[in-house]
Amino acid sequence: GGRGSPEEQERMMLLHQATHDALTGLQNRRGFSENLQQALSVVDEPNATALLQIDLDGFKAVNDTLGHGTGDTLLQLAAGRIRDTLQDGELAYRLAGDEFAVIQSRTGQPAEAERLAGALIEAFKAPFMINDIPVFVGASIGIAFGPGHATEGEQLMKAADIALYAAKRDGRGCARIFNRSMQLLLEQRENLRRSLRMALDRNELYLEYQPLIRAPASVVGFEALLRWRHPEVGTIPPSVFIPIAEADGLMDEIGRWVIEEACRQATRWPSSLTVAVNLSPAQFLSGSLTDTVAQIVDAVGIRADRLELEITETVLLEQTVDNIDTLNTLNVLGIRIALDDFGTYYSSLSYLKNFPFDTLKIDRYFIKDLETDRKSQTIVRSIIGMAHGLGISVTAEGVETPGQAQWLIREDCDYLQGDFLGRPLGAEATRDFIRRSPKELIRESGDEIWRSSVRPHA
Ligand code: C2E
Ligand code: MG
Ligand code: MG
Repeated sequence: GGRGSPEEQERMMLLHQATHDALTGLQNRRGFSENLQQALSVVDEPNATALLQIDLDGFKAVNDTLGHGTGDTLLQLAAGRIRDTLQDGELAYRLAGDEFAVIQSRTGQPAEAERLAGALIEAFKAPFMINDIPVFVGASIGIAFGPGHATEGEQLMKAADIALYAAKRDGRGCARIFNRSMQLLLEQRENLRRSLRMALDRNELYLEYQPLIRAPASVVGFEALLRWRHPEVGTIPPSVFIPIAEADGLMDEIGRWVIEEACRQATRWPSSLTVAVNLSPAQFLSGSLTDTVAQIVDAVGIRADRLELEITETVLLEQTVDNIDTLNTLNVLGIRIALDDFGTYYSSLSYLKNFPFDTLKIDRYFIKDLETDRKSQTIVRSIIGMAHGLGISVTAEGVETPGQAQWLIREDCDYLQGDFLGRPLGAEATRDFIRRSPKELIRESGDEIWRSSVRPHA
């Protein structure tokens, strides 16, 4: 059969289909693996083959909000932009979803790979026009060199992936070249992940409590803040291990422990004091949150209106109807709901209209320069006015100076929290703190909890 025979043509077409991606026309993962192994088998200088892993920033959001049709068009346009950027000795592939790769076989490394990465990132700065709508998605790139970083395709992909992870972590829309310290960081994270699985059983998790002050000076309760006392590393802050726990599906169980432990501690305080507990999105989405909370409140024997749950807006972004249900159920149980870190995420005002919040916590980002920055002053003043208009009370987070406290009190902020008023303390130190506080500064028993007067309880 000659080159042009129908059988031969059919075979070529099938081969093309097997190694190419139908949507973008780029070679697919199979073509990629074969070509990468091929490039690596030609042993040369350590940087002979550059692998660039490309991930689109914010593709998922476009796909979710504008639909899969738009998502597909975007992938086609993105593939075109990648292809148009390439020169001789450079070939692009679509690995999966919004993951692309380029294998570059050129001399003059690492400069050539850096040049290409820069050109790709530049190419993604202009919006993609889809149905006359400008859609912005950037690109993050991880680079690794074979055979220097790895002699096997799989290993080289892993190295480029680690570099890509670093690029994402460094703020997206940038490129990073793999290095050993990146790997070390990742291994540390892996170690943490493994020991975190056992931390709860080994009693390495504990809570600190930071006072919540009703202006000007009385203690109304405490916020429970989670800590991990790692046997080798020392105390690890929640910002480091909670994301790991969430990614590993551990946060539901840990979160349940936090609620129970915080409620138990609170039963050892005067019964007028409240306890606030932070919830992570994972707990909210698990579906059993209301049952869990009701059970704990019952088992511990704490009055429901002494417990306040703090959520951030990220919790509310998904499953909106279910979320309203969950919040309403908690509200009916008598549990308070606070919106944490207000002002830093989307700050959509529709949340305030649709969800039964009792408290708004203004993020410390707006508090820290309150004494000098007119814009922060205007924003904080407006939030307080708006919240009060809606019957919601306001807490200022991260109050560090007397000047900030005075300004907030003058502007009618209901509650203050921050190092100036009291740092987070261990359980025992918290009880000492309560004991040492002048009696008249502890909200009296029988006093109304929070500001029921501000927001009639639904
Ligand atoms: P958050 O809920 O906004 O908690 C306030 C954070 O600000 C705490 O950090 C607290 O120690 C810190 N802070 C308080 N006053 C000041 C101040 O005057 N200046 C400064 N610079 N910082 C102050 P922390 O304990 O590191 O917690 C960080 C975040 O981790 C919390 O932010 C919360 O989102 C999360 N978190 C803490 N405990 C838990 C938990 O049990 N479950 C969940 N899901 N998240 C938690
Ligand atoms: Mg909080
Ligand atoms: Mg906060």
